[in-house]
Amino acid sequence: MADDQVGTQWFYAEGGTSVGPIAEADFDAMAADGRIGADALVWRDGMDGWKPLREVRPVPAAPPAPSPSGAGPGETCSQCGRPFPAQDLIRFGNASVCAACKPAFVQRIQENAEVPHALRYAGFWIRFAALFIDGIVISIAQYAVYIPVILVVMRGAGNMDNNPWPLFAAQMILAVFSMVLAAGYEIWMTGRYGATLGKMACRLRIVTPDGGRMSYARATGRHFAKFISYFTMYIGFIIAGFDKEKRSLHDMICTTRVVKV
Ligand SMILES: [Zn+2]
Repeated sequence: MADDQVGTQWFYAEGGTSVGPIAEADFDAMAADGRIGADALVWRDGMDGWKPLREVRPVPAAPPAPSPSGAGPGETCSQCGRPFPAQDLIRFGNASVCAACKPAFVQRIQENAEVPHALRYAGFWIRFAALFIDGIVISIAQYAVYIPVILVVMRGAGNMDNNPWPLFAAQMILAVFSMVLAAGYEIWMTGRYGATLGKMACRLRIVTPDGGRMSYARATGRHFAKFISYFTMYIGFIIAGFDKEKRSLHDMICTTRVVKV
């Protein structure tokens, strides 16, 4: 039993000859890195006979195994989905990202982090001023058409023995015209430029919640959603003064925001 304390000396068989003696620590290292194969016969003093390594050292701490994706010591990159050893992935909060995906990932975080903070929501009064200017713009366009039409119709009606119907019909047509004019003006301007002339004058713009561009479809929806704000006795407009993101009712319906440029 003396050799227990002094240090175990190992031998292993290679090509018909025995190699050794080898100190325990070295033997373990050689077994671990494969210099001594699992099937190689090994022996130390005190054993009955030579035995295959795998019976003596039941698979010493496995060398880095190829990672089955997701589980175990390996993880997958949250961006490209390829498996990597955990130590090769860079952690950002809950996301693990491989070296190849890191630059694009970091850039996206920065962009996403900056856009919401860059939005400066426009409050009630500046938007009221913009609406007022738009009202003047539309009124000028309306009267430029109204006045000549009404004058012509009235002159014609005078020749028709004060028949009220031509004047009435003209007013109906002009009412429809002004609705189409208002819709066309707002949808065209906001769809194309993200702002009407009134909003441009007040340096405002209508955007999506992440600061993106308006589409014509959204501009159209927003124009008609505005009617609901009118029909609620303007409460739909007024609530913009109390909302955290300064949203009017039609902004909530169309998921838009009005921001300062
Ligand atoms: Zn990746």
